[in-house]
Formats: sequence, C-alpha cells, structure tokens
Amino acid sequence: MSPPETERRIHDLVVRIDRTLCVGFGDCIGEGAAAFVLDEDGIAVFATPEAVSRDALLQACESCPVDALTVIDASGHCLVPS
Ligand code: SF4
Repeated sequence: MSPPETERRIHDLVVRIDRTLCVGFGDCIGEGAAAFVLDEDGIAVFATPEAVSRDALLQACESCPVDALTVIDASGHCLVPS
C-alpha cells in the first residue's frame, strides 16, 4: 500500500499534513467539513479539500492545536501556522 498523500495543491495554496505531529484530535475535520478525515490509524489525511472554500480550508488548518497542518500561498508565504 502506498503511503498517504501528505501534500496537495488546493486553490492557490499548498497544504501539507505532518502525520508525525498529528494526534488525531479532529479539530480540522469539524472545522473544514470534507477537507480532512482520520484514517484507520486516527491520523489526518486529505478527503476532498477542493470542495471546501479557500477561507474554510484556511480556518480548518488554523484550528490544528499542534500545527500539523501547513499552508503556503502562491508567493511562498506561510499562511498557517501564522
Ligand atoms: S487538527 Fe491537527 S492534530 Fe487534529 S486531526 Fe487535524 S491535523 Fe491532526
């Protein structure tokens, strides 16, 4: 089985999941609707983040209490964690 995807380009953003930091609290899931889900190990993976608005996606990533979600914009600036 291939390892889970940890980086995806969504809208004009690059979103990264650091699965070594994720502790599976699920804050990003409640905030972001279908952007992320927990896999069988209880760690976040991408669901359908393209279906989530840019603002909602940023809000979901900001909600992570352990900064496991990173967002970089098209200019290379780190938007999350801020
Ligand atoms: S909020 Fe952070 S720690 Fe919690 S499931 Fe999402 S990525 Fe993992």
